[in-house]
Amino acid sequence: MDWHLTDKVIIVTGGAKGIGEAISRVLAGEKARVMIAGRNAADNEAAVQALSQAGGQVSSIVAELADVEQCKAVIEETLRQFGRIDGLVNNAGVNDGVGLAQGDPARFMQSLQKNLLHYYSLAHFALPALRESTGSIVNIGSKVSVTGQGGTSGYAASKGGINALTREWAVELLPDSIRVNAVLPAEVWTPLYEKWINTLPNPEEKRQSIMSKIPLGQRFTTADEIANATAFLLSPLSAHTTGQLLFVDGGYVHLDRAIS
Ligand code: NAP
Repeated sequence: MDWHLTDKVIIVTGGAKGIGEAISRVLAGEKARVMIAGRNAADNEAAVQALSQAGGQVSSIVAELADVEQCKAVIEETLRQFGRIDGLVNNAGVNDGVGLAQGDPARFMQSLQKNLLHYYSLAHFALPALRESTGSIVNIGSKVSVTGQGGTSGYAASKGGINALTREWAVELLPDSIRVNAVLPAEVWTPLYEKWINTLPNPEEKRQSIMSKIPLGQRFTTADEIANATAFLLSPLSAHTTGQLLFVDGGYVHLDRAIS
C-alpha cells in the first residue's frame, strides 16, 4: 500500500532505538525523509547508516531533549537541512521510577522534563513549519496513563499529560488542519523494557507472566506494529482522524481480564 509519505520530512525523537527506530525504519521504507533526534551520537549514527544502506533518506541530530534550547535546535537543523517539516513524532521517553514514596518534588519535575516538556517544546517550535505544510503530529504515550503502574509518578503524570495535550492540540490546531493523535503501547520488547524488567527480582518469570496476560496472542506487541500505526496516523490515508488515543496493545488495556 502507498501511504503517500514520499519525500515528507518527519522528525522522530528517540528515533535510533526501540520503538523510535522502528518508526524511523518504516517511514524511511515509505520514502519519507526522516530526521532522528536523540541524545546518543553513536546510536544516531548507527541508525542513519543502517537505514541509509537500505535506501532511506535519513539524517540525525544529537540532542538532549530535556533541554528546551536543544529542542529548538532540532527544529532549526531540520529546516536547515530539509527546508520543511511535515510530521513530528514525539516518542523519546524513559520510565524513570520517580515514585510518590521513593521520589521527591525535584526528581518529579526532572521526570516531567524528560518525558513531557519536550513533547510541548518540539510541537511549539515546529508549529510554523507544520502550519505551512499542513503537517501532522503523533505522540507516543503509554498504557500507564490510564492504568497506573506504581512507583513511577513522574512518568505516569507525563503520559497522562500527553493524552491531554493530544486532545488539546487537536482542538487548537483544527483551523490549521493539523491533525494530532497518540499511539499508546502497553508491552513492547525494547531496550527500555529490557532495562526495566531486569530491575525486578525474577525477570524471566515476570516476562512470561506479563505475556500470559496479553489477550491477543499472549505475546508482546512488536515495535513494528507501533510504527505501522504511527505511519498510518501521519499519512493522508487517516485524513479525517484527529484527537485519537489509539491503543496498540493486543487488547491489554480494554479487554475483560477474566479471559486471560
Ligand atoms: P528505548 O528503547 O529506551 O528508546 C528510547 C530512545 O529515546 C533511546 O534512544 C533514548 O536514548 C532516547 N531518549 C530518551 N529520552 C531522551 C531525551 N530526553 N533526549 C534524547 N533522547 C532521548 O524506549 P522505547 O521502549 O522504544 O520507548 C519509546 C516510547 O514508547 C517512550 O515514550 C515510552 O514511554 C513509550 N512506551 C514504551 C513501552 C514499551 O513497552 N517499550 C510501553 C509504553 C510506552 P538513551 O538510549 O540514551 O536513553
